[in-house]
Amino acid sequence: MTVPKVGFVSLGCAKATVDSERILTQLKAEGYGFSERYEQADVVVVNTCGFIESAVDESLEVIADALGANGRVIVTGCLGAKTELLKEKFPNLLAITGPQDCEAVMAAVHAEVPPRHEPFYHLLPPGGVKLTPRHYAYLKIAEGCNHKCTFCIIPTMRGRLVSRMPSDILGEAQSLVEAGVRELLVVSQDTSAYGVDQRGQTDLATGKALRPHITDLARGLGELGVWVRLHYVYPYPHVDELVDLMASGLILPYLDVPFQHASSRILRLMKRPASGEGNLARVQSWRKKCPSLAIRSTFIVGFPGETEDDFAELLDFLRQAQLERVGCFVYSPVSQARANSLPDPVDPELAHARRDELMALQADISHARLARRIGSRCTVLVDEVNGAEIVARSAGESPDVDGVVRLPATEGVAVGDRLSVEITGCDAYDLTATLLEFEP
Ligand code: SF4
Repeated sequence: MTVPKVGFVSLGCAKATVDSERILTQLKAEGYGFSERYEQADVVVVNTCGFIESAVDESLEVIADALGANGRVIVTGCLGAKTELLKEKFPNLLAITGPQDCEAVMAAVHAEVPPRHEPFYHLLPPGGVKLTPRHYAYLKIAEGCNHKCTFCIIPTMRGRLVSRMPSDILGEAQSLVEAGVRELLVVSQDTSAYGVDQRGQTDLATGKALRPHITDLARGLGELGVWVRLHYVYPYPHVDELVDLMASGLILPYLDVPFQHASSRILRLMKRPASGEGNLARVQSWRKKCPSLAIRSTFIVGFPGETEDDFAELLDFLRQAQLERVGCFVYSPVSQARANSLPDPVDPELAHARRDELMALQADISHARLARRIGSRCTVLVDEVNGAEIVARSAGESPDVDGVVRLPATEGVAVGDRLSVEITGCDAYDLTATLLEFEP
């Protein structure tokens, strides 16, 4: 009997990757196979991104290619929330579903290619189908967002914050660990807001009284004995408790805090959460509590109304905050975002020049921060072993977004191994190291 095959394209951020993994897991459980080419698939699913214009363009291009090569296409994900746009551009799509709607995608797949009758749950890899390497996995703890940042339309696409219950998250994390995952990357739109929609609820599903709160959840995840890394944390006062967990070694001393700007005027125009003027003091107090803390952040330059003074304030913040890892984007209008109607747009050429200036400054800061680690020892997790070298990461580097630690190729080292190393050198992004010993 031939196995019905699905062609699957996953675009977008880590949160979209988790949605893709859920759909892929369900497809596999129901006996579907996966096709490496559009032409050989019985149906194609495209999980899209709709955040910024370039991501929308990429999604539209992929949908057009899939329609051209195959013709039977289901669209899901953030761009799926823009039904009218998709219907107008591609009237022949089989179905359009919004983000995190696994059930609707499955219904559309069933309508086009019915599943085989025997269930295949026993063939599922433990931990489900993953798009990441076997040794790390994204763990999505909540959907949606209660904020209204003026440059963002995610709350319109993904809805308000809905936190998963702690027993559900801890159960998934436990299965991932049993399947060989050694690093859990906690993601959501606003990780520090986890549980605020469930305030007062207690989760009794495991026989323990679990409180849906980020500190308790991080503690529970840390107790699983693998690396736990937090992404998309906003600088609320209760983040101090998370930094305490980092200082105690229970979770990785790493914080991804998307500050986006430092000028309080611009932060107010952006309507950023936790955008008070105390961010620098907060960074300094976190470093005091946990000196090994690595902070990653992203910034937007050229936001409407950004003056030379605002930009100078941002550069000054970076000089003082001494963040380890920084990404910077030039503001680009997102269709239907409220920021589009703000006055005083910044000339794109000036915005690009500001980004270059910021990144040049940050390259020096990052280099200096990394250089402080030369001669120190740390644990790394191996991501890649090729002929010439081993590519790994320490607590200070998250996959895909930060730099790496490079070591000379050594016999017996495999992907997913934990090694004790000594840092020997660096540039502005990556570190070099030598192997000291294998760790359990
Ligand atoms: S916090 Fe702001 S930028 Fe992040 S998803 Fe929510 S509205 Fe968008």
